[in-house]
Amino acid sequence: MTAAANSVPWEFQHPMVGEATFPVEEVRRDFPILHQQVYGHPLVYLDNAATSQKPRAVIDAISHYYERDNANIHRGVHFLSEHATEEHEAARRTVQRFLNAADKREIIFVRSATEGINLVAQTYGRKHVGAGDEVVITAMEHHSNIVPWQMLCEEKDARLRVIPINDRGELMMEELPKLLSKRTKLLAVTHVSNALGTITPLRKIIEIAHSHGVPVVVDGAQAVPHLKVDVQELDCDFYVFSGHKVYGPTGIGVLYGKRALLEAMPPYQGGGDMIRSVTFEKTLYNDLPYKFEAGTPNIGGAIGLGAAIDYVNHLGIDNIAAHEHDLLIYATEALSAIPDIRIIGTAAQKAAVISFIIEGIHPHDIGTILDRSGIAIRTGHHCAQPVMQRFRIPATARASFAMYNTRGEVDALVEGIQKVKEVFA
Ligand code: PMP
Repeated sequence: MTAAANSVPWEFQHPMVGEATFPVEEVRRDFPILHQQVYGHPLVYLDNAATSQKPRAVIDAISHYYERDNANIHRGVHFLSEHATEEHEAARRTVQRFLNAADKREIIFVRSATEGINLVAQTYGRKHVGAGDEVVITAMEHHSNIVPWQMLCEEKDARLRVIPINDRGELMMEELPKLLSKRTKLLAVTHVSNALGTITPLRKIIEIAHSHGVPVVVDGAQAVPHLKVDVQELDCDFYVFSGHKVYGPTGIGVLYGKRALLEAMPPYQGGGDMIRSVTFEKTLYNDLPYKFEAGTPNIGGAIGLGAAIDYVNHLGIDNIAAHEHDLLIYATEALSAIPDIRIIGTAAQKAAVISFIIEGIHPHDIGTILDRSGIAIRTGHHCAQPVMQRFRIPATARASFAMYNTRGEVDALVEGIQKVKEVFA
């Protein structure tokens, strides 16, 4: 443990290394966007939970694709089409290995985590959830993992049940078995909360849900950039994430699903590529994964995502996690030492996200004043309004860290917050 860790006001459970062991300065050189001034100050980008920045390798992979390889994929007989198809499928294999999925047909390219969840709700959900049935979610979900289930429940006259959270922002696991019954058709849970930073005990949740015969959909949007994810070890039924939070481009995301479940599901959208044959009488659907990939996909996006995963793998996700955890401990200690700050989300298992409020100062004012010092944080409800309701606050200020952040940037944040306090003194 670092010396700083000892004075953190609550106990984290995570292995740690000091910043010195992670080549953060080298990493920073790979991210062109970081090297700019904002309002005359060096950019300090601490809004990584909203979207992360892109390394040169990702930017180059995308421009290379458009400069050299652009063609529509599948069925093309010409060189470029075959090449683009191969690159697109190589990206799928990269994602498969990254999640340790058993089969590349279990990797469906979608637009985002949001689309992945909607896909499951509209296909598996509409098929299996009926009147009087229940879908279980948690009190810390992002709106993307609430609203699609609400829409489904509304349509089907089913009921949404919610696992509550405690004052630290941890799931009240003792409530889970009470919420599961014969009526429960699905459980949807985040792996990491974007508003609180909480890492949920996924393995345990899935075990309990499965013991009741309930499949589990995991929202991995905030987990994949920070933790090793092994879908076979977790035994989750579905897992979704967005490329843009894991150093890849926007407009590309992934739905992992167990093959047997995906095979049995009806298609999501109709169109080209998702069919085997079409007549006016009957359409036969394509095999996995194409059954769920109607229309021309985001080919450049998938290739960019593959490059982003290669970049993460090259550094090692465990090394990234350890570096970010060091920042979490360092920042938690520094922020906790500032009078009138309250950290919202003090789970024992946390990713490097710190939501906070300062008594008497609106989070938007904190964000706006920090911005003038070149420090980018996010303020608001973070698309998790029920979390704000649970803590009886309108909004928080949130600093979220990525592999390229440094302790020096945490110091800049702390200095910026001191300035905010002076303005409101
Ligand atoms: N779930 C969580 C936990 C998130 O943080 C986010 C993005 N803030 C999403 C889902 C949705 O991601 P996207 O907007 O990329 O679909």
